[in-house]
Amino acid sequence: MKRVYMDANATTPLLPEVVEAMRPYWIDRFGNASSIYLDGQQARTAVDSSRATLAEFFNCHEAEVVFNSGGTEGDNTAIFGLLRPGDHFVASSIEHSAILEAAGRMAQRGVEVTYVAPQPSGLIDPAEIQRALRPETRLVSVMLANNETGVLQPVEEIGKIVRAASAFFHIDAVQGAGKVPIDVRRFGCQLLTISAHKMYGPKGVGANFVRRGTPVESLLVGGGHERRRRAGTENVPGIVGLAKAAELAMRELADEIGADGASEDGGLARLARLRDRLEAGILQIPGTGVNGTQIPGAPGPGSPRTGLCPWGGDPDFRTWESTNPVPRVANTTNIWFDNLEGEALVIALDLKGVAVSGGSACHSGATDPSHVLLAMGVDKTRARSSLRFSLLRTATEADVEYVLQVLPEAVEHLRAISPVAAGTAG
Ligand code: PLP
Repeated sequence: MKRVYMDANATTPLLPEVVEAMRPYWIDRFGNASSIYLDGQQARTAVDSSRATLAEFFNCHEAEVVFNSGGTEGDNTAIFGLLRPGDHFVASSIEHSAILEAAGRMAQRGVEVTYVAPQPSGLIDPAEIQRALRPETRLVSVMLANNETGVLQPVEEIGKIVRAASAFFHIDAVQGAGKVPIDVRRFGCQLLTISAHKMYGPKGVGANFVRRGTPVESLLVGGGHERRRRAGTENVPGIVGLAKAAELAMRELADEIGADGASEDGGLARLARLRDRLEAGILQIPGTGVNGTQIPGAPGPGSPRTGLCPWGGDPDFRTWESTNPVPRVANTTNIWFDNLEGEALVIALDLKGVAVSGGSACHSGATDPSHVLLAMGVDKTRARSSLRFSLLRTATEADVEYVLQVLPEAVEHLRAISPVAAGTAG
């Protein structure tokens, strides 16, 4: 049976170039990067040159790159590494659980936490961050792109507000990395987190940008690795894979922006068109709608944008906007289907060969409605009926057409037998 994978925000396959770059470091160049003889030096050289690539990817100094095990560790490091009892912490309420659960633990240890809710569009209003700040606010954490809706957050504006308050700013860029350019100087953050497996690199490896002089305590101790900021023998093949994925992403993003800053017809523009085609096709099914693009009173999806741009109209970021009024990464849409259970539709689509996700990827299997959609004001029933479609860079028109072929039938069937439709669901 044909398989169509539309859950790229959960994880991505490795690009062939990434596999090739990693290959020597599993077998021939297996040395420990801390060893002083040749094998160790080969590994050290690979880590150093990967660090240089990541510095370019972040637009920072090489000394500001810390390799780690991925997004969860990066997010946890910002919170556990910076916050102490008596501090105040501000996070958006649509953060990943790697932020929210870490915040919950710190709340039990005497840190005051303020959660800032998004607008119904899925955007965090910088003015709400401003309102949440207090003299004792030490850290603010807001994601670059939401994993469930793909909505891009106005991190640059938030960065200015946080800097004026002399607090630290962490950005979870796990879902934005590789989809929009990262620039830590422009974002004005002290910390930023990425994860390789969301950007066509290997699982279990990632990196933090840590601005020089930021007093982050290391989570792991037991060695002088990463300038004492992250103990543990370096995952050399993983680090090399992350760097290759970052290099390829930078190349693709550069191809996307012409010298005049206008959109070229590159891979991401093509992907946005495919996503828009998928979205428009799904919206033909009665009782459906998009989560995370609607500004109350604004024209619906497919209408010309209303001019709201979280970056003040910077052309770089417009490149990836579809015709919807709220900027989103190119590959993601989140759609509600009235009168059915999202989990049931995930299973029905899987049986037809289509992989999509209901709610947050890391919670698939759980039936709790998505905290992101609830925070946006979506009601529980509608949140439970929502699915996230996130396309791989290699997605084709045939993939989209296949989903549009099998989906209406699956929806119709589930609605016919659904306890939600019959009004018996709790
Ligand atoms: N942050 C966001 C926004 C994510 O989407 C994820 C994974 O889904 C993570 C953090 C955790 O990353 P990792 O799987 O590398 O631990």
